[in-house]
Amino acid sequence: MRSRAKIPILISSILFVFLQAPRAQTFPARASATKRVDDAALRNADANSRDWLSYGRDYSETRFSPLKEINANTVKNLRLAWSFDTDTTRGLEATPIVVDGVLYTTGSWSIVFAIDARSGKLLWKWDPQVPRTFGQKACCDVVNRGVAVYRGRVYVGTLDGRLCALDAESGKLLWQVVTVDQSQPYTITGAPRVVKGKIIIGNGGAEFGVRGYISAYDADSGKLAWRCFTVPGDPAKPFESPALERAAKTWAGEWWKIGGGGTAWDSMAYDPGLDLLYVGTGNGSPWNREIRSPGGGDNLYLSSILALRPDSGEIVWYYQTTPGDSWDFTATQHIVLADIEIAGAKRKVLMQAPKNGFFYVIDRKNGELISAEPYVPITWARGVDKKTGRPIEDPAARYQSSNTFMKPGPLGGHNWQPMSYNPRTGLVYIPAQEPFFIYAQDKQFQYRPGGWNTGVDFSLFKDPVPFVPIGHLLAWDPVRQKEAWRVQYKSIWNGGTLSTDGNLVFQGTADGRFVAYSADKGEKLWEIAVGTGVIAPAVTYEVDGTQYVSVMAGWGGAFALTGGNATGAAAAGRLLTFSLNGKGMIEETAIKSSIPSIIETSFAQDRAAAGSVEFARWCAVCHGIAAQGGGAIADLRYSAPGAFQKYEQIVLEGAYSSRGMPSFKQWLKADDVDKIRAYVLKRRAELISKK
Ligand code: CA
Repeated sequence: MRSRAKIPILISSILFVFLQAPRAQTFPARASATKRVDDAALRNADANSRDWLSYGRDYSETRFSPLKEINANTVKNLRLAWSFDTDTTRGLEATPIVVDGVLYTTGSWSIVFAIDARSGKLLWKWDPQVPRTFGQKACCDVVNRGVAVYRGRVYVGTLDGRLCALDAESGKLLWQVVTVDQSQPYTITGAPRVVKGKIIIGNGGAEFGVRGYISAYDADSGKLAWRCFTVPGDPAKPFESPALERAAKTWAGEWWKIGGGGTAWDSMAYDPGLDLLYVGTGNGSPWNREIRSPGGGDNLYLSSILALRPDSGEIVWYYQTTPGDSWDFTATQHIVLADIEIAGAKRKVLMQAPKNGFFYVIDRKNGELISAEPYVPITWARGVDKKTGRPIEDPAARYQSSNTFMKPGPLGGHNWQPMSYNPRTGLVYIPAQEPFFIYAQDKQFQYRPGGWNTGVDFSLFKDPVPFVPIGHLLAWDPVRQKEAWRVQYKSIWNGGTLSTDGNLVFQGTADGRFVAYSADKGEKLWEIAVGTGVIAPAVTYEVDGTQYVSVMAGWGGAFALTGGNATGAAAAGRLLTFSLNGKGMIEETAIKSSIPSIIETSFAQDRAAAGSVEFARWCAVCHGIAAQGGGAIADLRYSAPGAFQKYEQIVLEGAYSSRGMPSFKQWLKADDVDKIRAYVLKRRAELISKK
């Protein structure tokens, strides 16, 4: 679909901002090799065993490396080669890109690092200086999943919605473009992809109220090439494409006034032979279909896999995993392309394990469903009808007349943590998880521009959750649609996976370990304590004949913020790199919170009880269910006593906005803040009495 974007968005998109470019720190770099990363190099990335050229290593996004110096026999000798401190305790989700011995990665707040991949020495750092108030627009931490590298440039999407091109050698800003209406609650956390001279980037924000889209920018000039909206806008205005005109027939009510959603905030893959770009889209905005599209409808193209023409953004086919999504069941999870034999025929397939709990194998030429089976326990549907490709829903799952306890919940059977596909074993390694949730209609729902607008009553989660949902590493056979093996964990929210031709699978864990398993059987062959929960996927590369394995270790993201009794420890975020001849030791960096002593400040029990509901509604999504911080953000129960004296300044006047705690003045009143304060004081007192 040719871009006929709404005029204000188009204008903001082509507003180049050369001013106020933060100065990069420059050092001599060997980054000239990035000039050789062109279209041919990206198409042949799989054959280049030494480097890690794009987000999923190659266009098929398999995250499989042919390197095997580190293998099932030698991995026992793996040691830390070097570590690099990213100077933050917020979540680290990036996949480093490695080109000829230089590693490019991102930390929280979209900061970019170029690092010597052999020594860990910083070559340059670029801080986009994202205003900390944008933290409020990020549902799931101020994370970034990495950069793209192409013809001498490094591309990054920033939390405040910019796409920036940096010089790979110096880290100097070459151009930047604002890809979103920054007055709306849009964010970028995903890594850009590069296809045929265009930089492709999506965005997030569907928890708050936005309309999702994917954009393509010219790699040299930063000029907008096309924009593909994922859901229809106001039908009184011309539709941007026939695909959106068709989609509008599956919606009801006045969805465009509250966003619609369908944000494409993470997954993409590309098949150069078919010339199709695959993009996963997210949940509806608000989550609750009854509010978003009263009376029902599939609400295309929410929770779908879209196949686009990368030259034009035209939608060629779609497959909707969750029609009429009402549960935050995004289909933004990692997409893997593979050619595999099914029933005696070689099939070009696309594989995805989206949040809804079904593992999909789809013909990537036309979007036809080949198979779909549950890969985790699910209660919302009995299966997927092979003829229609639609899930067979349990009617109670819609939570219209009563609250519904369901598996999985909004954290999904699998979240953004990438899976990997190993063509040797034929297995897909999924960071699977078994979360649950109680879905309840928010009967007092009122659209609050820029606020948390899910239409789901979060006040049910005002008490501590008695146990942490579990997760596991799942080796899945996509042909038989069956589990091959699993490693059970005590917590959800474990890291993405890497598989290698050394018969290995690497995964970091929520409980602060980095582990290697045999790819064929799942035997634990090696592990090391890394001092913090790991959510990012590892990469591997070779420099001067030595193989390295590298992983960002920094606990954070949605579960870390909401998760109460999270098992992940708060610690300084680091990039850890291992090799067989490494000589480093992992230093303990965990930040210990001391139990507060009793303070004078008193609170009224009835105020605290009222505050528990307000806290669940406004605060828990970042500061944890029942004010039990998960580690990435300060646990409010441990606040310095002085903080309790200035809650109004903090919550309403933005006294801590430079630290990422914005003002809630447009939604809360002084009386609400006082109730919230009473509740946090009560939770603090409970902590002290437990001591
Ligand atoms: Ca979501």
